[in-house]
Amino acid sequence: MAGPSNAPSCRAGWEDIYAKSLDCVHCGLCLQSCPTYRVTGREQSSPRGRIYLMRGVAEGRIPLGDVVRDEALLCLGCRACETACPSGVQYGVMVERTRAEVLRAGLRDDRASRLELALLRHLVPHPRRLRFAFDLLGLAQRLGLDRLVAPLLPDRLREARELLPPIPPRHQRAAHPPMLPAQGERRGRVGFLVGCIMPELFPGTNAATLRVLARNGFDVLVVPDQACCGALAAHAGAADTAHHLARRNVAAFADVDVVITNSAGCGAALRDAREWLGDEGAPLAEKARDVSAFLDEVGLRAPTHAIEARACYDDPCHLLHGQQVGDAPRRLLEQIPGLELVPHADPGACCGAAGTYNLTQPEMSATVLERKLDSLAAVDPDLVVSGNPGCLMQLRAGLAQRGLHAEAIHPVDLLDRAYRRS
Ligand code: SF4
Ligand code: SF4
Repeated sequence: MAGPSNAPSCRAGWEDIYAKSLDCVHCGLCLQSCPTYRVTGREQSSPRGRIYLMRGVAEGRIPLGDVVRDEALLCLGCRACETACPSGVQYGVMVERTRAEVLRAGLRDDRASRLELALLRHLVPHPRRLRFAFDLLGLAQRLGLDRLVAPLLPDRLREARELLPPIPPRHQRAAHPPMLPAQGERRGRVGFLVGCIMPELFPGTNAATLRVLARNGFDVLVVPDQACCGALAAHAGAADTAHHLARRNVAAFADVDVVITNSAGCGAALRDAREWLGDEGAPLAEKARDVSAFLDEVGLRAPTHAIEARACYDDPCHLLHGQQVGDAPRRLLEQIPGLELVPHADPGACCGAAGTYNLTQPEMSATVLERKLDSLAAVDPDLVVSGNPGCLMQLRAGLAQRGLHAEAIHPVDLLDRAYRRS
C-alpha cells in the first residue's frame, strides 16, 4: 500500500481506511439502500463506489482531490449500507476518516466549510457560547427580525432559518437538576448525556427523558463536566475536536455503569468511542444506551393514560443503522393505550437531516426528504415519532411545507404524556 505521506501512524488515517476497505467484496447488495445512489444512479455515489475511491487513494492509485472530497461530503453518513452489507464493512468509520483526511489535505478551504468547521469547533461544544447564540436567535425570532431579513439572506442561511423551530425562552432552557431520584421501587442508577442542541431546542424532551427514567425506577444523574458527544464534528471531519470531547466524556461518566442518550446521533457517537480512542474509549462505548433501547431492555412500567392517535414510527438512521435499535421504540409505543402504530413504506430510509447535511447539501437533502414525505403522506398519520433532534427538525419543516397535519415528536415525549396524565 502506498498511501499519502501525511497518513498518521495511529489507528486513524489511510492505513486503517485501507484495512477496512478490504472487507468489501464488491457484491453491490448495499446499492439500493443508499439514498445518494438511488437519487443519482451513479456508481461513485454509492457505498461500493466510495469504498473503491477510498481504497484507491489509500493505495496511491487515485489522487486525493475534488472527486473524493465531493463524494465523501455527498454521503449522508446514514450507514444504511452497513445494515445491508453481508461482509460487515465499517463504512461509517471509513467515511469519517476520509473526511478528516480531506480536511487535513486542505481540500475544504472555501468560506462555507471554514464557517461550518469554526462553528463546530468553537461554538457547538461550548454550552455558554451556544446558549448565548440561541438567546440571540430566539430574540430575533420573537421580534420578527428573522422573517424581516430572510429575503436578504443567502440561500443556505434562509433554509437554515426555515428548519429552526421556535427557540424556547431562556428560563425554559434552564440547567438540568444534578439528580432526579427514582420513583416507586428503585431499579438502579443511570447517567444522562444532555447533549449540545437538545438543551437549547428540545429542553422539554430532555426533561421528559429524566422524568420517564425516574418513573421507571432509576436515579438519573446529570454528571457535571460532561461534554457534547462530538458527532457533528466527527461527521464534518474535525476528528481532533470529536476525540477531545469523547475523552472528556470517558472521564465524566467513569463512575456510572449506563449512559443514557435521547439523541440517536449522540448515542451512535458514544458507541464509536472505541473506534475513535481505542481501548481508552471502550468503557464509554459499552455504557452508552439509547433511552428507548434501555427502557425496552429493563421492561417499561406501563403507561395508563390513553393517547388516541395514529402514529408512524420513523427510524433515525443513527439508531437503526448506527446502533441496531429498531424494534425497541416500536415495542414501547405499542404499550401506550389508544395509540395506533401504523406502518409507512420507508421508515428506515434517511430523512435527509444527517447532522448538518441539510445545511451543507441542501439539494440532495431536499430530494431525500421528498421521498420520506411521500411515504408519510400515503398514510397521513397524526404523529410521526422519531428519536433524534435533527430528524425531528427536518420532519417538522417538511411536514409543514407539504401541508401535512402530523406532529413530529420524540418517543419519550409521548411516553411522558402517557405517564403524566395518568
Ligand atoms: S452512509 Fe448512507 S449515503 Fe453514505 S454510502 Fe452509506 S447508504 Fe449511502
Ligand atoms: S454490500 Fe458490503 S461488501 Fe457488498 S459492495 Fe456493499 S459494502 Fe461492499
